[in-house]
Amino acid sequence: MPNSAEPIPFKKSKRTTPMTSEEYVASGGIRCPYCDHDDVHGDSIEVNVDGAWQDCYCPECENSWTDEYKLSGYTPEAEKN
Ligand SMILES: [Zn+2]
Repeated sequence: MPNSAEPIPFKKSKRTTPMTSEEYVASGGIRCPYCDHDDVHGDSIEVNVDGAWQDCYCPECENSWTDEYKLSGYTPEAEKN
């Protein structure tokens, strides 16, 4: 970690602070929380009983983070039509 003494936890960002989780969710989770770039990359989603996670990466500012998903309900089979 050559930049471990760097006080700002992200680089090349146009933002002065990264989005909060609330701001990230409000944005739809489609923008980089560090620089607002709108073409972020996501790995496959991992699911377990507590929820789901997706490792994401921004090619613009080179930061990475993890999206968090929570179960929000279910759709009965009869309502799928
Ligand atoms: Zn970014």
